[in-house]
Amino acid sequence: MEKLVKTQLAYFNTNTTKAVSFRIEQLNKLYQLLVSNEALLEEAIYKDYGKSTFETFQTEFATVYEEIKIAIRDLEQWSAIKPVATDARNAPAKSYQIPEPLGVSLVIGPWNYPYQLSLAPAVAAIAAGCTVILKPSELTANCSAVMAKIINENFEEQYFHVVEGGIAETTALLDQKFDIIFFTGSVPVGKIVYQAAAKNLTPVVLELGGKSPVIIMPDSDLEVTVKRLVWAKYLNSGQTCIAPDYVYVHQSIEQEFLEKVAKEIEKSDYKLENGNFVKIINERNAERVSGLINPDKVYVGGNFNVAERFIEPTVLHGVNWEDKVMKDEIFGPIMAVLTFDDLDTVIKEIKDRPKPLALYVFTKDENIQKKVMGEISFGGGCINDAIMHISNGNLPFGGVGSSGLGNYHGEAGFRAFSHYKGILEKEFTQDSDIKYSPHTEEKLQKMKAAAK
Ligand code: NAD
Repeated sequence: MEKLVKTQLAYFNTNTTKAVSFRIEQLNKLYQLLVSNEALLEEAIYKDYGKSTFETFQTEFATVYEEIKIAIRDLEQWSAIKPVATDARNAPAKSYQIPEPLGVSLVIGPWNYPYQLSLAPAVAAIAAGCTVILKPSELTANCSAVMAKIINENFEEQYFHVVEGGIAETTALLDQKFDIIFFTGSVPVGKIVYQAAAKNLTPVVLELGGKSPVIIMPDSDLEVTVKRLVWAKYLNSGQTCIAPDYVYVHQSIEQEFLEKVAKEIEKSDYKLENGNFVKIINERNAERVSGLINPDKVYVGGNFNVAERFIEPTVLHGVNWEDKVMKDEIFGPIMAVLTFDDLDTVIKEIKDRPKPLALYVFTKDENIQKKVMGEISFGGGCINDAIMHISNGNLPFGGVGSSGLGNYHGEAGFRAFSHYKGILEKEFTQDSDIKYSPHTEEKLQKMKAAAK
């Protein structure tokens, strides 16, 4: 690991990665490699957890392609020197910011969207002009192997390299000095990464998790709300960092909501018998998630098969904060439904807990939309939809508080891997005497007059 990082640092110091043309060339190359290897990548993800070609395109490739396309389109503009105004004290002069790549980057990926969440940060790193060491999750071992094959056979080790492995390999990587570490995964491991980075004062982006709430007001279009929500909840079998975790539905519409949810789930393709379901990543997680199902509170589903790593799309109703399902992020196909009659209480209950990664509110009432957006801190989210904010590459994506630190996607990703040098450029002429000795009363008065 030490040798690899040193090799990348030496390469970074040749300044090769700083040319915008070089970065665009690498992004095009990555795009072509992914497109031409789609079949191989699809086969690997199906082997790992039964993810279909449809969902793989929808939730993995589409986002990575979007990130690459936006970066290629906008890179000239992102990396251009940005002029800013010069203040009176420094005039005449020019002031500007020079974006520069941070250097050698480490990207650590999770298993739940093994391509998207490893490659989209790598795209941002390449766009910014960094070198990249990518460590995908060992839990999606086939995806990790195929990414290593495609990348390591086509990019030089000194520039972009995949290191495969689990805790031991990641720990060895974290012992090295990087210029930036970009981590996506759980809160406990996020803390380990942050501590390791702190030893070298290395900047980090932490894309973490948590419980993402949904609020459904009685004036929402329930038909559309349920359709969007059920899709978002059970996508990837609920193993989505920004999945709606629990749903606060207004008590006046609870019954209608539950009935519509049941009907919508019935229509879905996710069934054990037709084989079209994304598996829970491993038996340990299938045990954990199925253990959250309280049979007394099941409204829909509730069946599971740990050996098959299958859990039926499940809805629990009458849920409260004492239930096991409300203790941690669910990260599985269980929707926990709570009811409310007072929005302020809901807001308080959400604010009493760690800041969510995402939040979704369904209502036509603009005042309620504004109130929820203004009063609750969370990473990002949607009004009248769920999950889809992640798919707009023009929006910054990231958490806040314990759901994460920093943003990426589009220009936010470029910024995450860049440093902005602030430069004041003077001519040798017109040097005002005011700051120099002797410190006279007249100069002080002039300074005060200019500053106040
Ligand atoms: P994880 O934290 O277990 O693993 C993530 C990565 O860290 C893997 O590459 C793994 O090899 C490595 N790792 C695991 N244990 C380690 C240790 N002790 N020391 C060093 N490295 C270690 O996370 P996961 O199970 O892969 O992913 C699920 C979690 O990630 C959920 O909490 C989810 O909410 C979160 N997540 C967040 C986002 C986001 O964008 N904010 C996206 C996806 C997942």
